[in-house]
Amino acid sequence: MQQREFIGLEDQFGAHNYKPLDVVLSRGEGVWVWDVDGNKYLDCLAAYSAVNQGHCHPEIMQAMVKQAEKLTLTSRAFRNDQLGPFYKELCELTNSHKVLPMNSGAEAVETAIKTVRKWGYTVKGVPQDKAEIIVCDDNFHGRTISIVSFSTDENARAGFGPFTPGFKLVPFDDAAALEAAITENTVAFLVEPIQGEAGVMIPPEGYLKEARTICDRHNVVLILDEIQTGLGRTGKLLAEEYEGIEADLTIIGKALSGGFYPVSAVLSNTEVMDVLQPGEHGSTFGGNPLACAVSRAALKVLFDEKLIENSYEQGKYFLGELRKISDPRIKEIRGRGLMVAIEFHPEVGGARAYCNKLKEQGVLAKDTHENIIRFAPPLVIKREEVDQILAAIKQVLAAS
Ligand SMILES: *Cc1c(COP(=O)(O)O)cnc(C)c1O
Repeated sequence: MQQREFIGLEDQFGAHNYKPLDVVLSRGEGVWVWDVDGNKYLDCLAAYSAVNQGHCHPEIMQAMVKQAEKLTLTSRAFRNDQLGPFYKELCELTNSHKVLPMNSGAEAVETAIKTVRKWGYTVKGVPQDKAEIIVCDDNFHGRTISIVSFSTDENARAGFGPFTPGFKLVPFDDAAALEAAITENTVAFLVEPIQGEAGVMIPPEGYLKEARTICDRHNVVLILDEIQTGLGRTGKLLAEEYEGIEADLTIIGKALSGGFYPVSAVLSNTEVMDVLQPGEHGSTFGGNPLACAVSRAALKVLFDEKLIENSYEQGKYFLGELRKISDPRIKEIRGRGLMVAIEFHPEVGGARAYCNKLKEQGVLAKDTHENIIRFAPPLVIKREEVDQILAAIKQVLAAS
């Protein structure tokens, strides 16, 4: 079949809830993907950072196949021999006390929301149904009704009401606004350390540390959504490390499985998680042996191959080289580790058109908003591959 035939099938039979670049991929290895015609591309999205370990990593693949031959799903009605070791390894790596495994990122966010609400009622003493959670403008935490209830993106919300109450918005990177919004009914502050979908928005240094102090002062649970920033993407295991803080609840997903399988988790640093009693929350697939085996291998690869250090080093080089490009159309270049964005002046726009041109140069990147392109390749990337991305960007800028 031709690419346009595959695209036709998607358009005819699939819901139109995405507008992908028109490239039909059929194979991946490391930072590289191939389309059905055999064209090769350097993947600079890495499935929104779910493929930090690179496409089809052989060790994760082995772990998946081996486990699939033995046992895939027991449900949590029974125990399995992968769950305990998965918990232990994850807790040791992240310095956490407790883990609650789920599947998608949005489910883990929902889990954190439920947990802090219950904590508010049973521990903090918030009156029934009065719990408030503070979130930030331009957040992205997923797509469920409750999560889009506190989105400020009209595209994500319009037509989906009625919405879940109990959320309050404050500007991102404004600690004073956070403190002013807190009432005696505030149970949590939920924030991304770096806003990925908003366009790699990095708060000024000290913001998260201040948020940590404010949360402590008012007995408010700090929840960091590290689904995108976590697991090496920013050059640290967790982005919170840049500010030397620890969240009470940390949400991870995406790269937790190296892209093989949906695995997410809420990590608890304090005893917040203890409020959940048997039967109050769960998931048929959450914590299944296949997910745990895949995730254990994905975490091992992250450390064995020093991908976090590589993310830091290659990211620093990439950002440094990008900043040498002088082009009046570029408003800002920013990033941390291998989470990098080029923002064009709003009147330039056309980020999508640049992505299409980058595709012609063998680089797949994704526009976010009209004027921002994000570059987030798998963390296995090598210096010469970073140079290839840079060459493609320069080529596209020169030719347009
Ligand atoms: C991707 C993402 C989510 C949602 O994860 P899904 O697996 O798509 O449900 C939540 N928060 C952040 C920061 C994300 O990047």
